[in-house]
This record gives sequence, C-alpha cells and structure tokens, in this order.
Amino acid sequence: MNVLIIGKGKSGLSAGKLLEKNGYSVFYYDDREKSEIPEDVSFVVKSPGIPQSHPIVNYFREKNVEVIGEVEIASRYMKGKIVGITGTNGKSTTTALVHHALKKLWKGKVFIGGNFGIPVSDFAPETDETSISVIELSSYQIEDLRNFKCDVSTILNITPDHLNRYETFKEYAQAKLKLLKLTKQNVILNADDRLLKDFLKEANVLAFSMEKPADAFFDGEKIVVKDFSLPVSSLPVRGYHNIQNFMATLLILRSLGVNLHDAVNALQDFKGLEHRLEFVKTVNGITFINDSKSTNVDSLEKALLSFDKVILIAGGKDKGIDFSPLKNLIRERVKKAFFIGETGKKLKKLFSDATETEFKMTLKEAVLSAYNAAEKGDVVLFSPGCSSFDMFKNFEERGKIFKQIVEELK
Ligand code: ADP
Repeated sequence: MNVLIIGKGKSGLSAGKLLEKNGYSVFYYDDREKSEIPEDVSFVVKSPGIPQSHPIVNYFREKNVEVIGEVEIASRYMKGKIVGITGTNGKSTTTALVHHALKKLWKGKVFIGGNFGIPVSDFAPETDETSISVIELSSYQIEDLRNFKCDVSTILNITPDHLNRYETFKEYAQAKLKLLKLTKQNVILNADDRLLKDFLKEANVLAFSMEKPADAFFDGEKIVVKDFSLPVSSLPVRGYHNIQNFMATLLILRSLGVNLHDAVNALQDFKGLEHRLEFVKTVNGITFINDSKSTNVDSLEKALLSFDKVILIAGGKDKGIDFSPLKNLIRERVKKAFFIGETGKKLKKLFSDATETEFKMTLKEAVLSAYNAAEKGDVVLFSPGCSSFDMFKNFEERGKIFKQIVEELK
C-alpha cells in the first residue's frame, strides 16, 4: 500500500521509517524538491509545518484520501499510557517537568516527544502496556489528530499567537480545545484563562488557579492541592508562570496515581530548560537573562512579571500580534528598552510613552547598549516576544548568539 508523506522534515522522515517497517511503500512530497506522487495513495501524513490550505493537501482531501499527522499515525503503533500537553506557552517546560518526575517514579518505560523535538514515531514501537509517553502537542499537531487519545492532558493557556497561520484567534483556540475531546481520563485546565474558564464544569476537568481556590491553587505563598501544600520559595523553577506550570504538573501526576510528596522530591533537581528565563551571567554586577524562547506577547508578559525592574531587549518577526496590552507593565517594570528586528521600529514607537525606547539594527548593538545603560544590580532581560526568523535560523540560534555576546562583554 502506498503512503504519501508531505514534508520531508524530522517528523516526516521518522513517520516514513515507521511505516516502511510496517510494510508500506512510502513516497515523500516536499516543496523544496522534485517529488513523485503515486496515483493510488491509501493515506497521507502531513507534517505540522504544512498549512491545511496547501494545494497538495486540498488535492487529496478532494479525492477523499485521509490526511493525518505524524503523531496520529505514530499513536496507532503505541501502547501504554499517554500524557498530552498543550498551551500557547509552557508546553516544553511542563512536558520536561512531568517527564523528569515520571523518569524516577514510573514503574515502566518512560518516553518524551512530540513538539518537544523527538518525533513520536521514533519511539512508538518501543512502547508497551506498562510504559508512559509524555507528548508535547502544538496546535498544528492537534489539528491533524483523528483517533488519538491521551489518558491525561492539560491545556495550560490559550493566548494570541500564530495569527499569521490562523485566520482568527477563534480558529487557533478551536485547535487547542480539540484536546478536550481526545482525553480519556482527566483534562487539566487553567481556571484563570479567559477562554478555558468556560470549560471548567465538564465532568473530567481538574483546574489550577493563581487567584482562587481550585483543585490546585496559589494562596499567595504556597501551592495548595487537597491535603498537600508546598511553599513556592522551594520550587526548582522561578517566575510567576512556572507556578502555573508546576501546578499543572502536580495535577497530571496525581491523576496518574503518583504520590505528591514523591513527585516534589523527584522534581527538586529539575533544571529549567535552555532559553527559558535562563540565567546567563553577571557582568560587573549586571545580570543577563536569556528568554529567547519568548515568541509572543504572553511569554514576554510573564518574563516581565518575574522581575521588579529590567532593561529589556525585545522584538523580532512580525506575527501580527497586538502588543499594546503590555503598556502598563512596561511603564512599571522597564527602565529602558531596546528593540530589534522586523517589529523593532513599531515597538519603539508603541512604547515610547511608557519608557525610554531605542531601535537597534543588530542584537549585538542592543546588548552593548543595554550593558552601557545598566547600573550595578540591574537585570538585562532578553525576551523577544516575537519569533526569530527575521534575523536568525530559530530561537535556539538567537539564544546562543545572545549568550555568546554576553560572554564576550568586558
Ligand atoms: P512552549 O513549549 O509552549 O513554547 P516553553 O516552556 O518553551 O513553552 O516556554 C516558552 C516561553 O514562554 C518562555 O519564554 C517561557 O519563559 C514562557 N512561559 C513558560 N511557561 C509559561 C506559562 N505557563 N505562561 C506564559 N508563559 C510561559
């Protein structure tokens, strides 16, 4: 039987390998090269980077050929339990937290993957009845799920992002909300989220909140989960948003039957992920923080909420998001801001009545200027709030270059 894989990236190639092993004849289509498309195709596997409106996707849909994603096809070869994690921000951190605890506490094999960078097809055949797989899911990946079911899932938040690919915010939200229907046991939701709060009454929902009593909540000092509490000063990760990620993690683990005392012990040595509010270095009393993974307004907001006062470096590719809701926070917490990239001039103008703003042509100029403007005790925060593709290959390259510039400061 013939299968066509659209997109010859990491996940496409991995799905191809899995299907070949299972007896399919695999063909690949990629815009970047000449491709052979067979006449009779049993089904199509579409990579998450390919929009639904791509002509080749439409061509097969019109022929009534099933179009599914890599996670969907991989899940058909999976056994054991599945944890699904989505949200606009916090997916990778929460996925890593849950995985870190399960690695120490779960009795069977533990896998991590999905949007986290490891295609699910890589490990699907290795799963068995006793294993557990922690899968990070982007909205693009959720769109292409059909029969996939997770045992426990979370939607951490839904805030504007990817408006360059989705026509409206509603469409983007719809993609994420689909996970509610694809979960067998508990869905963990953020009770403070404008959209998610409408779904808290659903039977299988557990909620976490920074503001009010919920299945897990923050009382101003502690995280409280029925019969259990934990001072936030003892969390292994910093920042307002990480309290939310931690609460989601605890509810996921409890839903899986893990004892929370054991969970907290297991998480004590968790190190935050690279490029997420990562401490780089203190140079002459000035602290540099790399938050290159901040690619939308909400992650920039959470980064600002994590410090009292900063010198900010932000800006990058324009995704059409409105940054004006951040004006008050910038006024309160940003001593001076340096903007770069495609959105740089727009942001400089937008925030000019909130703080002192400057546009810089390169990241290096921005870092040097921030360093010059800073005084002993200041924090220089690099939290772009935009994706990186205008000036860099990806957020990893952007973060590494930032750290290199900081390392070279005298
Ligand atoms: P994702 O995988 O969803 O992109 P990450 O854990 O990689 O999430 O974090 C991406 C960015 O969002 C980082 O800048 C991080 O500091 C910030 N962030 C992490 N968790 C949250 C959260 N729950 N809410 C808002 N921002 C968050």
